[in-house]
This record gives sequence, structure tokens and C-alpha cells, in this order.
Amino acid sequence: MRVGPPAAGLLKQPPTGRPRVAVLLPLPFPGPFDYAAPPDLPAPPLQPGDIVTVPLGRRTETGVVWDPERNLPPEFTPPPMKSVADGRLKPVIARLDQPPLPASLRRFVDWVAAYTLSPPGLVLAMALRTGTAAQAAPALGWAVADPPPGLRDTPARRRVLDIATHDGPLTAAELARRAGVGTSVVRGLADAGALRGVTMTPRPAFVRPDPDHCPPALDGEQAESARALRALAAEGGFSVTLLEGVTGSGKTEIYMEAIAACLARGKQVMVLLPEIALSSQWTGRFARRFGAEPALWHSDLGPRLRRVTWHAVADGTARVVVGARSALFLPFAELGLIIVDEEHETAFKQEDGVTYHARDMAVVRARMDHAPVVLVSATPSLETLANVGAGRYRHLVLTARHGGATMPEVRTIDMRAHPPERGLFLSPVLTEAIRQAIGRGEQGMLFLNRRGYAPLTLCRTCGHRLQCPNCTAWLVEHRARQILTCHHCGYQEATPPACPECHAESSLTPIGPGVERITEEARATFPDARILVMASDTLPGPAATADAVARIARREIDLVIGTQIVAKGWHFPHLTLVGVVDADLGLGGGDLRAAERTVQLLHQVAGRAGRAEAPGTVLLQSYTPDHPVMLALVSGDFESFMRQEAEQRRPGFWPPFGRLAALIVSADTPEAADATARALGQAAPRGDSLQVLGPAPAPLAILRGRHRRRLLLRTRREVAVQPLLRQWLDRVTPERGARIDIDIDPVSFL
Ligand code: ADP
Ligand code: ZN
Repeated sequence: MRVGPPAAGLLKQPPTGRPRVAVLLPLPFPGPFDYAAPPDLPAPPLQPGDIVTVPLGRRTETGVVWDPERNLPPEFTPPPMKSVADGRLKPVIARLDQPPLPASLRRFVDWVAAYTLSPPGLVLAMALRTGTAAQAAPALGWAVADPPPGLRDTPARRRVLDIATHDGPLTAAELARRAGVGTSVVRGLADAGALRGVTMTPRPAFVRPDPDHCPPALDGEQAESARALRALAAEGGFSVTLLEGVTGSGKTEIYMEAIAACLARGKQVMVLLPEIALSSQWTGRFARRFGAEPALWHSDLGPRLRRVTWHAVADGTARVVVGARSALFLPFAELGLIIVDEEHETAFKQEDGVTYHARDMAVVRARMDHAPVVLVSATPSLETLANVGAGRYRHLVLTARHGGATMPEVRTIDMRAHPPERGLFLSPVLTEAIRQAIGRGEQGMLFLNRRGYAPLTLCRTCGHRLQCPNCTAWLVEHRARQILTCHHCGYQEATPPACPECHAESSLTPIGPGVERITEEARATFPDARILVMASDTLPGPAATADAVARIARREIDLVIGTQIVAKGWHFPHLTLVGVVDADLGLGGGDLRAAERTVQLLHQVAGRAGRAEAPGTVLLQSYTPDHPVMLALVSGDFESFMRQEAEQRRPGFWPPFGRLAALIVSADTPEAADATARALGQAAPRGDSLQVLGPAPAPLAILRGRHRRRLLLRTRREVAVQPLLRQWLDRVTPERGARIDIDIDPVSFL
């Protein structure tokens, strides 16, 4: 395949031949290809943004007519592509009857590709994802029917019926996928008459939210912030504002006012949430405020709803979209405001494929659409605080919880002084506090950021540790499912009865707790309590999460036990006690942001306590109660903590005071990985304003059977890393079977 230049003059008649158009395909090529404009295309002529089909080799591909001028900062401009002679250009096949991709989105695609050093086609793929597929025939969906008498009840069947009840009708494949079962289970239920088939129609048109439907009465501090945000949204134009306020201070309430102002101005709104599990409470709140549901965008949407939503965003019928980071690439017709809630969350960083940080890219997108963006957090990232400090971002602060609710009291439990009983993980101090809370008719929560039963299984006889065959990682026991699994690659095996190494019987011992094990302990300790477990693997989707949250709100639960999913912005008015099982957990490992992240996560967990009248208490089980992180959580003085963090990072030019880019080498063999990493090391750029660390084996030295090495480029802030990296990579040819991935502004160092 020859590649064409980024089309010098779109549709201009070149002196020698036919008009040419650049077409960007959603494939990993370095840029758009030139095609000939078809002579017999019905008017109007092809325009940038038009979605077209073109020949590619023997295949037909869908692509987008691209702009002749890429409009990128000079340091980003990709190298020119080779030109194809006019005579050899192939013609565009057809223009699809689809709304064109808006100019601001095209510019955004180019920008993200250049910034992340990704092929622009792969970024375009995110903007097109299933949105443009041709209309398919209506599918057969399955909904619950009256349960036939004597229906055999299994956990798998129950999961399917649960999901069909809440989210049905769904296709058999979708039902099976969400329930984590084979389609035979769905078929079995259909044959038994427990599911009935229905023809699925796309959801009805999106209803317009009414900005004046039900505005809140805001108190002094809130009203002031809301006024400022409303003004920015009403005026339009690019700006970035950090909305900072303690949990429960009404941040959501306030940014809804900015949304109202934007809607009143006739513009669309994008709201990014770090985790789509959160969306159910959010959409409920939105509907109460605006009298209509927002559009949802996330990876769990069925193909049909995805297509309908994509088109509704493009033609402007969907006014407000709430979604995960992929919503950034939707074709908004008239975007007027972006909200990034919980902006400090690392879930905004996409780690696979095109690695981008959705918070940072939201700021870029806002600039391209001339729209304000609001970053929202109780514990803003150091990056955002540095931008506030430098005067680049505005800052609005809420200091008090709404309605006189007090902040929870945070205390550490020194685990050295108050250890749990042998083989257990909860200190008597914590169990007593839970007992009292439940006794008062309030709710408790135990937080442990670790799925499964135990993170490590060890043979007591020979010391063998059960490891993933594909990764440098221990297998995690999931006792309820009787499996051991790798949390990195998904490898699974049945829990063996004997040690695979020395064959000793009943010698395998779980080491350390996961939520499952804590649940076992809690059930034994509080036999009468109604316990609910919330972990991403026990809650198969947003609907199940919504159901769990509703049960907590209805007080059907006394004790919630969960992983990071419980930390999110939930509002549980009767929850007064939060216990953090292992507050030290996030502090190990050499991660640059370990302390910052632990404070953010645990503060967010703590924020679930005492959100209504009854005051809350938070107990942190820690072996290092004097650690600055614990002291910050207890005192609630995050400003000083973040100042100290900044002072530790500033001298070494660590982010946000400098820039980082990670180079990850992965290969079939350790030799190829080493050779490629060494070549990268030798070709590394040198200079006063930069430093290259590595190559070194990655902490996850083997992942999915690939051998991994890492290098880290660290530069002063004023250095543009993209051209440096591009030149560096040009000097290195990876060994056979090896590849180099680039991660700009890395968040994970595994
Ligand atoms: P945050 O987003 O800062 O955690 P929320 O916006 O979720 O805070 O507000 C916390 C709770 O207080 C929510 O239940 C919200 O509806 C309520 N609330 C906040 N401000 C007001 C207000 N002005 N009037 C009525 N309820 C409010
Ligand atoms: Zn693995």
C-alpha cells in the first residue's frame, strides 16, 4: 500500500489531473491516504468530515474525508507522507448517508494522535466506534416471563434472570456476556419458558432537559460558585475552572447550574465520570433537576443504543451526555460545556491502545470547541492545583458540607497496639464500632481495595507460591467461584486440592485478605447483620450496582463491604461508620503518586460517612499511623499535605513540574526485549533539560507471556517531548517480535 500526502489542496483541480481528497481510515497508518474524488458523485462535492467508503487493497473500508490543513502546533506536526501520482489514485466509492464528523472533532483527533504519538486512524476509530455501522435488522431480545413452576434454579440462571429483569430485553449474546455465562444458559431459560422473545426497537427519541424544571435553593457559598459557573457557561468561550469542595458540599448541585445555563444557551453538554457504575445515581439526580434523562455513553451500551446515541449527539437531539472517558470522542454538533467529575481519578487514564488522560484531553477538547470546562474534586490532583497556582485555571472553593452536615471524624487504629485475633483482619476496636453503629440502626461500611479471597496462596509444606503462568503476578483466590485467577491477564484455574509442586494435600494456605475473606470474617463476627458485598466482579454491570445502591438507601443492609467501587460519589444518608481495612495498602511500591492517590482514595471513602444528620466516623486500620498520609487524613488538612507533595516533586522536575514519557518494550523472548531496550538506551537523547531512566525490567516483567522492559524520559516542563521521542524512535529498529509502546504522562509504572 502506497501512502499519499496530507492532500495539499482539497478538491482543487491539480494542473495535471483529477481532484484528490485525503481520507483518514480507522486503521494504524501514519496519516490519511489520497483518493480521487469520484466524477459521478451527486452534489454537493465531498467536504472534510464526510464519511465515505474507499477501496483499500481488496477490501472496502469506511473512513472520513480529512482536512488539507492539520492545524497542529509545529512541534506536533507529523512528518509528510509520500505522494501518489494522480494516475494511480483510486476513487472514493461512496459517501455514506451519515452526519459529517464536525471540524472541532477532527482537529481533536489530530491533536490527540500527535500528543500521544498514536496513529491518527486509531484515534479516529474511537470517534467512529460503531456509530457509523449501517442500520441492522431489528434483533430478537429476551425479557423475563412469569417463572414457570418447577424452574431449576442455579446461580447462573439467577444472574441471567436478574439482568433481564433490570435491563431487558437484551439479545442472548448480551445477556450471556453480562451474566458471565454461556449462551446455552440463556437458551435453556428460553426453552423452559422463563424468558420470552421480543423484537427490540431502539430507544425512543431523547427528551430535551428543561433548565428551569426544578432548580435548587442554594446557600451563600454555593450560590456564589454557581453564579460564577453559570456566567462562564452562559458566555461560552474557553476557560478551565477547578470546582473544589469537601464531599457533600454540593459540587454536583452547583455544576448542574452550569449545565442549566449551557442548555439555556442552546448548547450541548458533556459530563465525564471516572466510573460508569456511578451513572445510575447521577442520572436519577439529573432527571429530578431537569425533568429528563441524559444520554449515556459507555462500553456496556448495546450496539443498537450506541448507534442511536451517536447519531443523536451528532444531530443535536441528545443535549447532555454523561459517560466514561470515551465520550470525549463523540461528534457533538454544538458542544458548550464539559464537566469532569472526580478529576483526580486515575481511571481517567486509558492504559490500552491509545493511552490518553481523559481529564487533560477534556481541556484540549474544550479549547477546540471554545467551551468552558469544569474540573470537580474534593481532593484535586497536584497537576490541577499547579495549574491553579500558575493562574492558568480558575478556582472555586466550597468549604462546608451542605445543610449543616459535619465532616466525619477520622481516626487511625494503630494495628500494633490493637491487633486482630490470629488469622483475622479486623481490630477489636473496629468491630466494636461497627457493632455499635448497627445497634443504633445505622449502617457501616468496610473498605478494602482488593478483590477475591486472598492475594496470595502459599504451600505450607514447600513454600511454593501459586503464580500466573503468563505474568509476573500471584494468582488471586476467588473462593466462592473455587478458582485462582490472574488480575492482569484473566488466566483462571480451578483451585487445586494439593500443592502443584510438592503434592502435599491440604497444605495450600491463603495469605492476606481480599473482600471475600473480610466478608467471611464479618459474617462470623456479626451473624445477624445484613451484609452486602460490592466489588466489580460481584456486580456485573451498572444495573446491578444501581440495585445494590438502592438497597442500601432503603436500609435493607446493615454492613456494606466493598472495593474501590464503594468509594465513589455515592450518597448513603444512613451510613455513619466507615472502616478502612488496610489504609497502608496503596503506599507500597515506587509509584510517584502513591501518597497522593492514597489520600484521595481514602478521603473519598471517608466521604461516604455521615452525609446526613447523624455524624460520621471513619476508622483507618494502619501499621504506620504516623505516616504523613494518615496524619493528613486525620487532620483533614490536605492543603498542607499537597504543599509537601509539591515540594518533594519540584526539585527533581517530577510532574507537574516536569514531563514524563514512558517507553515500554515488550517482546516474545527476554533476549529480544533486552536487545531492543538496550538499543533504545544507547540511542537515548541527551541534554541538560532531560534525563533518561532505564532500561530496567518492568515490575510486571512478564505480562500475558510478553517480556517487558521500561525506560522513562523525564524533562523540564518547557521541553516538548513528542519531537524528541519521534527522533529517538527513528534511531531504533525493534528486534523481531518486539514492540515499543509510548505512554505520555504515564500514571501507571507497572
Ligand atoms: P458533592 O458533589 O460535593 O459531594 P452533592 O452535590 O452530592 O455534594 O451534595 C450532597 C448532598 O446534599 C446531596 O444529596 C445534595 O442533593 C444535597 N444538597 C447539596 N446542596 C443542596 C441544596 N442547595 N439544596 C438541597 N440539597 C442540597
Ligand atoms: Zn496473568
